[in-house]
Amino acid sequence: ARTLRIGLIPGDGIGKEVIPAGRRILEALPSSLNLKFEFVDLKAGFETFEQTGTALPDKTVEVLKNECDGALFGAVSSPSKAVKGYSSPIVALRKRLDLYANVRPVKSVATAQNPIDMVIVRENTEDLYVKEEKTYDSADGSGKIAEAIKRISEKASFRIATMAGEIALRRQKTREMGLPSIHKSPLVTITHKSNVLSQTDGLFRSTAREALAAPKFSSVGVEEQIVDSMVYKLFRQPETYDVIVAPNLYGDILSDGAAALVGSLGLVPSANVGEGFAIGEPCHGSAPDIMGKNIANPIATLRSVALMLEFLNEEAAAAKIYAAVDANLVEGKFLSPDLGGKATTTEVVEDILRRL
Ligand code: NAD
Ligand code: MN
Repeated sequence: ARTLRIGLIPGDGIGKEVIPAGRRILEALPSSLNLKFEFVDLKAGFETFEQTGTALPDKTVEVLKNECDGALFGAVSSPSKAVKGYSSPIVALRKRLDLYANVRPVKSVATAQNPIDMVIVRENTEDLYVKEEKTYDSADGSGKIAEAIKRISEKASFRIATMAGEIALRRQKTREMGLPSIHKSPLVTITHKSNVLSQTDGLFRSTAREALAAPKFSSVGVEEQIVDSMVYKLFRQPETYDVIVAPNLYGDILSDGAAALVGSLGLVPSANVGEGFAIGEPCHGSAPDIMGKNIANPIATLRSVALMLEFLNEEAAAAKIYAAVDANLVEGKFLSPDLGGKATTTEVVEDILRRL
């Protein structure tokens, strides 16, 4: 049996309610999968900041780096006003572990009237998010001017496009294993605005093209689309997309927009992925308005667990979780309040565990 050591970082708010659900589903996977799990509880978040003076203790990073195969991250609360010394631990974790990709599947249940099944692969280290900004007074006295650097590198563009190609191939493989899907063949859509930003987005586009021209991707279709027309098509014909690869800012915006296509934030998972390491993370925040009531939807987290397992090459285990979640949603007897149901977090989790 393979033993995987998983770091658990609940963080704040409902993170503390949904991450235990993630642990439970790993423990409940059928023994025929030959998988064992060990768990390490780790700290991060605003509460940790208030207790220790840092939102991301070095110990958390060291343990993840040296002892863990993967991790689950709940959510953290960010103070509404800037607090001295506080910065987001998930942003820091992505940097310190070089988790260069943010992967966000957006999928409706198989029985949906307008089924959607796409994955957005967002570059996570550069673009405008290098946060190199400055503000100065205009020379003509007409007020302040603010500027930001948009940095695009060949290295980061190449590896993110390669990951998108690999995800497209893996999705094709699971289709061949019989997982139902609306897509017949793998397709990667490269997103950019190189008609205006010919150098930065131009480099992203040409490098992604080059990466996806590798022989191993010969069965993967490649197309490209300008980001604004993409938003239009994403809303009108979302079913046409399989894998989307985008620079950081467009990927951020597209992935929140795409999440709206399937309803509640409580359904949408993500993973932060680097070489040989993945952190599963529900897309939602710490939801202080519903914390402590045992009504948070655990599905975003359970799907994030599955996504993490995919990147640890445990596709069969991941497929079990996806199928159990879909069955819960299709039957619709145990739904949390965000989906119009009355079930508690615990009841949703238990219904899904029964279906594993
Ligand atoms: P949020 O995602 O926490 O909540 C938005 C709305 O969605 C709320 O009404 C909430 O009740 C609901 N919701 C979210 N997750 C749900 C779930 N699993 N089940 C049912 N309903 C759910 O976003 P917000 O309210 O803008 O932010 C709250 C806090 O979370 C802030 O401090 C913010 O900085 C932080 N935040 C963190 C992350 C992260 O850790 N990745 C992401 C977004 C926001
Ligand atoms: Mn975002």
